[in-house]
Amino acid sequence: MSAPSREEILQRLREIRHPKSGRSIVELGMVSGIVVRGSNVGFALEIDPSEAEALEPLRRQCEEAVRALPGVTSCTVVLTAERRPAGPGAAPAGPPPGGGGPATARRTRPKIALPGVRSVVAVASGKGGVGKSTTAVNLAYGLEALGWRVGLLDADIYGPSVPRMTGARGRPTSPDGEKLVPVESYGIPMMSVGFLVDEETPMIWRGPMVQGALQQMLGDVLWGELDVLVVDLPPGTGDAQLTMAQQVPLTGAVVVSTPQDIALLDARKAINMFRKVDVPVFGIVENMSYFVCPHCGGRSEIFAHGGARACAERYGVDFLAEIPLDPAIREHADAGRPLAVFAPESPQARAYLDLARNVRDRIEAQLGESGRRPPRIRYL
Ligand code: ADP
Repeated sequence: MSAPSREEILQRLREIRHPKSGRSIVELGMVSGIVVRGSNVGFALEIDPSEAEALEPLRRQCEEAVRALPGVTSCTVVLTAERRPAGPGAAPAGPPPGGGGPATARRTRPKIALPGVRSVVAVASGKGGVGKSTTAVNLAYGLEALGWRVGLLDADIYGPSVPRMTGARGRPTSPDGEKLVPVESYGIPMMSVGFLVDEETPMIWRGPMVQGALQQMLGDVLWGELDVLVVDLPPGTGDAQLTMAQQVPLTGAVVVSTPQDIALLDARKAINMFRKVDVPVFGIVENMSYFVCPHCGGRSEIFAHGGARACAERYGVDFLAEIPLDPAIREHADAGRPLAVFAPESPQARAYLDLARNVRDRIEAQLGESGRRPPRIRYL
């Protein structure tokens, strides 16, 4: 049975009405970004931010309606809130829950509850392409290699790369129609928008990113008991990142940067963003720090190595690790073969293991006595 076309999906959605106005959600222009991938469908419902809670049943209704179409096995709908331009007649409402800019940084937003998850660490960068996702994935597997129970959330909604880098296959399932069972790859449960859309199909997240999507990818997931959940944030320091930094109950953050000055300027912005929302910055990782020639073993400092260490000192945060620019790191990431699993004895895996140890120690210090992991009882 082949999947329905976008038009057929829209046809079905035309019958669904906004609970207040009674008008069709399609006519109201609420439906956007329909993606059909195999038998899996996803789209966004654009809503007024103030209605986020009230429209949760509508979101579920849409999911159920589309899931019931022949040829569809799963449907995920996210609520998105586009920032409405203030103009004549616009309600003098506060900032939308999905963002609102740095000026609203101190506005408190409710944190998403994560029962069973002992700590959450964000991996962030001031800009894209510095190796943030590579670091997040290798940090997660490094922590797992240290014996921790680890989960991984790919919150990089603009460029989800966790599925590719971890070799994760399949899709989250929802046996009860409410909570999602994450996909597991080499022992780590994970969630990503990438399970829903193609990496090459950019999902348009208009306006500030949405409480609804984060709640679904994070709060509505059966993570089980975890020592740490590693969160790969979108690059940059805009509204979406700020919202996530506020809503995700972060124990601390790791900022990834390349050594060039320009990237470090961005790293500073990321540090400041976390400070604004009172999230401890565990430190900086200098990625692509130096290059080791695979032929002669010689070390070249292509990007003026050491900038991140100086930046860390200046900003009073720790320097967590320097990771070389190394073809093996890229190859393992591209092939979805985590270093800690496929080459645990390699110098590259060891570099990430050192990073994982540093992060683990900072998490423990941050949690203090009360958050310590109870010793595991072994029956001999
Ligand atoms: P970001 O998440 O910051 O956008 P990625 O983690 O996706 O960046 O990395 C961008 C590219 O650089 C990927 O192809 C990745 O394999 C490669 N890369 C990242 N770190 C390294 C490294 N230390 N050595 C070699 N290649 C790397």
